[in-house]
Amino acid sequence: MKPKFKELLLASFEYEEYNPQDTKVLLLNAMFFITIMINLIFMVINLFFTQTYIIFFVNLFIVSFLGYALYILREKGQYELASYIGNGILFIAFISIVIFKQSENYSMVWIFFFAPFSILTLGARKGLMLTIVFMTIIIAICYTGLNSWDHGRWNLETFFRVSTAMFVMLYVIYAIQNNNERANIKIEKLRQKEKLQLKLLEKLSITDTLTSLYNRRFFEEIFPRQILRARSNQEFLTFFTLDLDYFKQYNDTYGHQKGDWALVQVSDILKEVFSKSDDYLFRMGGEEFAGIFLDEDEAHIHTLINQITEKLEKRNIEHNGNLIEGKLTASVGVYIKFPDVELGHQEIYRLADEALYQAKSKGRNQIIYV
Ligand code: GH3
Ligand code: MG
Ligand code: MG
Repeated sequence: MKPKFKELLLASFEYEEYNPQDTKVLLLNAMFFITIMINLIFMVINLFFTQTYIIFFVNLFIVSFLGYALYILREKGQYELASYIGNGILFIAFISIVIFKQSENYSMVWIFFFAPFSILTLGARKGLMLTIVFMTIIIAICYTGLNSWDHGRWNLETFFRVSTAMFVMLYVIYAIQNNNERANIKIEKLRQKEKLQLKLLEKLSITDTLTSLYNRRFFEEIFPRQILRARSNQEFLTFFTLDLDYFKQYNDTYGHQKGDWALVQVSDILKEVFSKSDDYLFRMGGEEFAGIFLDEDEAHIHTLINQITEKLEKRNIEHNGNLIEGKLTASVGVYIKFPDVELGHQEIYRLADEALYQAKSKGRNQIIYV
């Protein structure tokens, strides 16, 4: 992220999607930018007006190194490194200002800037620790100036006033940042949870609850995609539709619950036969199933399709209402699409369905290819 001039000045930008890291990057950009600006102004003042050359060099030091840190941040996107350099520079610069200027002309006000800079850019914990080290050094230096700095006006009372104000500032900034970070962690956790729930919902919306195969809705979505894929892979696309024979009687004889159990048996068989990651199986509704799969070997396609009825036969699911077999059977309609044939999914479905109808009218328990 590379904030623009206006965003830097306002330290604010339009979020596309809320991301706490973006806020940190923007803040660091803005802080570098503003600190560089202020120091440029002071460079001019110190060089031409007050002629405090030593502070001019401190300003120059800040401008050049922060300029480098800003470059790293904007051009290389290295947030961590840039914030470490930034904090290091201000750490050295502010201590130098106190050493060189002591308490003269309120120059010490700038050290108050360290706590917010450090805590906002390094985070609450690291920033707090660095600021405590910084303040300890500042307080130690300030203590040595008691009754001598500022023509003896820097006394114990001013010393305590400044030190207390520094701690209050540190506390306020730390508390705000710490709260923010905790809130962000909570928000992030909620977002992750929402994402998971959304995924689950998406999955549920395309899954049949009884068999956990895909449902009709997903069939409409995936079929056109697989047709394109088969063409680009130069593979055969096979679509089959399967309807159980005399299933109404099965329910009437064994009850609806047993009927559901039989549907799960059939779906298990289909899953056994078609287990590749790009095999798609559907429960189209009721006791009608379907499948789409890609294969480059036509003989292998026939083997797979035959396995469906073979495995169903082997399961030997009793069905007295099936006058022909005495066990549960299925009729299957199959359409194999060659890579170069142009046909839409509705048309393929219609053709396979016609084949299924033929299988039914020819006495059921058989596979018909278009
Ligand atoms: P055909 O051989 O001609 O297909 O005869 P059929 O009796 O199977 O006829 P059809 O395909 O029209 O029958 C569908 C039956 O499937 C009707 C209903 O009893 C049963 N069925 C549909 N959905 C479910 C379900 O979710 N669970 C159960 N147990 N049975 C269902
Ligand atoms: Mg049926
Ligand atoms: Mg049916």
